[in-house]
Amino acid sequence: MYNKLVLFDIDGTLLLASNTNRQILIDALMAVYGTEGNARSYNFAGKMDSVIIHDVLKHAGLKDKHISEKFTTIKNTYIDLVKKHLRHEDIQLLNGVPELLGELSERKDILLGLLTGNFEGSGRHKLELPAINHFFPFGAFADDAHHRNKLPAIAVERAYSLTGRMFTPEQVVIIGDTEHDITCARTIRARSIAVSTGTYSAEQLKSHQPDALFDDFGDTQKVVSCIANI
Ligand SMILES: [Mg+2]
Repeated sequence: MYNKLVLFDIDGTLLLASNTNRQILIDALMAVYGTEGNARSYNFAGKMDSVIIHDVLKHAGLKDKHISEKFTTIKNTYIDLVKKHLRHEDIQLLNGVPELLGELSERKDILLGLLTGNFEGSGRHKLELPAINHFFPFGAFADDAHHRNKLPAIAVERAYSLTGRMFTPEQVVIIGDTEHDITCARTIRARSIAVSTGTYSAEQLKSHQPDALFDDFGDTQKVVSCIANI
């Protein structure tokens, strides 16, 4: 019987994608809008893909209407290019991740899912390359809302559709590498676990008061026990 819903962020938490990922977004922006805006310097960490696209184009002076008109095209172009050009060697699985997912997926009391700023198509591709996509039967993605803070409730609803189990806020654990992951957990009073394997240092994450904080997921038993008892 499930009693914990554990939602993982992707980039910086499960894996690191090479700079090819940024270049692919730049190529997609150029192809669809004819400008890359400030996509070369924009900080992607913890941001929704949809918000990144919007922000970098606004920076180039494009109007909301113009951005929205082609939004489906840019989204599909980006996902297609990720599937075509992002390769196995562009993805680095973070320390302890396969072991942790292996252990968690064996447990009958834990349901795994994703809560990520990636679009589903490109996010799933990033997970498929290092063969960890199968651990996640469902998720909440950038396709689902414009703000990350809306994603926890969507994930809980999807978990209910999938399992018939309605998880209470304290049974939900959101795991990520940025302040945005911690903040979005707080919106539904879920538990948050931060990991400093992305661009945020342990000190930076600590100042946002996650319920638990790890340097990495190298110690599988320690992390599993933290998740089970948080
Ligand atoms: Mg992240």
